Parts: sequence; C-alpha cells; structure tokens
Amino acid sequence: PYVIAAPCIDVMDKSCVEECPVDCIYEGDRKLYINPKECIDCGACEPVCPVEAISQDRRVADEHAEFVEDNHRFFAEL
Ligand code: SF4
Repeated sequence: PYVIAAPCIDVMDKSCVEECPVDCIYEGDRKLYINPKECIDCGACEPVCPVEAISQDRRVADEHAEFVEDNHRFFAEL
C-alpha cells in the first residue's frame, strides 16, 4: 500500500482524498493516513500531493520508515 509521511504533518492538503477511488485516506489529528488494508495501490494519490508526502510503503525512505508503523497503529486503534 501507499503511505503518507512527515511532510503531511500540519499540512493536510487533502488533494489525495479527492483522488482516491476507494476512499481509504483518513484524517488524523495532524496528518492524513492511508488504510493499508483498503489501499489498492493505484498510485493516484502520489502525484497530487503538493508536499510529496506519499509513496509506496516499500519505497519509503529510511527516515520515514516510522510512518509505516505509525500508520498501522492509527488503524489498529480505530
Ligand atoms: Fe487511494 Fe490509490 Fe492512493 Fe491507495 S494508492 S491511497 S487506493 S489513491
């Protein structure tokens, strides 16, 4: 699945929410989250993010790896 990393924090532009065909992008307190169980890996959200916060989880840069975990935590708590 795709994952949203640090650049989204306190930005939450939400262009991606409109693009996502399966509505799997959810709003947290300070950033948006992609539900890894619902994401169909279509890639539509990645190019529309103005701060380039979105990437595929297996291509996430090391400095953003914590957001893959953070994502799982967010949806585990819902
Ligand atoms: Fe939604 Fe596609 Fe982005 Fe997954 S890759 S969050 S399905 S727009």
